[in-house]
Amino acid sequence: MPFACRVCGGRSGTADAAGPGHWICTRCGWRLGDAFDSDLPRPVVAVVYYLRFGGRVKIGTSEQPRRRLAAIRHDEVLAFERGGRALEQQRHREFAAIREGGEWFTLDEALRAHIDALRAAASDPWLAYDRWLGEAFRNASS
Ligand SMILES: [Zn+2]
Repeated sequence: MPFACRVCGGRSGTADAAGPGHWICTRCGWRLGDAFDSDLPRPVVAVVYYLRFGGRVKIGTSEQPRRRLAAIRHDEVLAFERGGRALEQQRHREFAAIREGGEWFTLDEALRAHIDALRAAASDPWLAYDRWLGEAFRNASS
């Protein structure tokens, strides 16, 4: 594409039937040729994140995961799940038995199975996040 997608930063797209100069971002589905109203607020997508550090997993939530996760020491982003505070609290209750303290949990079989199920639906957490962002963007601008 002639310039990066404004929603997810992706560079690859497919030519849109709307005509020359119109592209659809491969990552998030935003229509690059659409007029972009810079007064529109960027879409906000809250996620529950699963962040592994050693044998522990932090289950938290953020509306700005790139910024948030950059500030937390971790080995690996295991998965994202679309949802905010309510979903985070629900997961904290579900895994209360393996809670080590704060938002950190022992990576046991049950938690691993839960994360595997999320990864089966979206193997790349950041790609999934970009898609949700693209969806939210399209919903907000239509
Ligand atoms: Zn995009």
